[in-house]
Amino acid sequence: MTALLEVNDLSVGYGDVEVLRQVRLQVAASGVTALIGGNGAGKTTMLSAIAGVLPARAGRILFDGKDVTGLACHERVESGIALVPEGRQVFPDMTVEENLRVGAIAPRARHAAEAKLTEMFARFPILKERSRQMAGTLSGGEQQMLAIARGLMAGPRLLILDEPTLGLAPIMTGKIFDLVTELSGLGISILIAEQNVHRTLALAGQAYVLENGRIVLTGSGPDLMGRPEVRKAYLGL
Ligand code: ATP
Repeated sequence: MTALLEVNDLSVGYGDVEVLRQVRLQVAASGVTALIGGNGAGKTTMLSAIAGVLPARAGRILFDGKDVTGLACHERVESGIALVPEGRQVFPDMTVEENLRVGAIAPRARHAAEAKLTEMFARFPILKERSRQMAGTLSGGEQQMLAIARGLMAGPRLLILDEPTLGLAPIMTGKIFDLVTELSGLGISILIAEQNVHRTLALAGQAYVLENGRIVLTGSGPDLMGRPEVRKAYLGL
């Protein structure tokens, strides 16, 4: 596997609490990599640390062979890492178009902002229709589409999705999974944390199970789907 992202012995915490302990993970240059685990396992902490929202206490994060451990969030965006955070976090009092433009602030994306905007409006017609509407007035599913489109505006090589289907109706959940497949087909590497374990493992070339801040199992998605411990703990089988 050609690793685009390599996380080596990463430790991350809040105050006195160490949440991630010496975690190792690799994300291939293409395809979907899944991170699964129960509530509080540390998935958001892990994704935030990779995006530079949280600092690493120990360990190294390599992206495209370059050590990005000490880089700020915006510098990681510049390297090609985009995070779509849990809970969408669109700017509610800005229009859909303004939210999208914020996604292209990084120098790597600025010159292509107009072309990217056209591309996003073509990919997400609903966002074009609502371009002048305040983002806070969109439905949850539309806000999730907007959050993903905002991430794509930066032209990432690695798109990190934190629980993108959380709280969405089944039909919208299906659309998000279709989108993940489509984006992966375009050559964007995807790292996704999801509670919809069955559908996520079905897509994942590689998957990691995180429990109590440690990786306890790894394998291809279909491989993990066949493992008794995963079936019992995460698939209710
Ligand atoms: P969920 O699916 O519920 O979002 P998760 O796997 O994403 O869970 P995290 O949000 O990374 O888990 O949380 C991991 C642990 O870190 C939890 O025990 C949580 O209480 C703790 N934690 C998260 N954020 C903070 C914070 N800002 N301050 C202190 N502890 C935190």
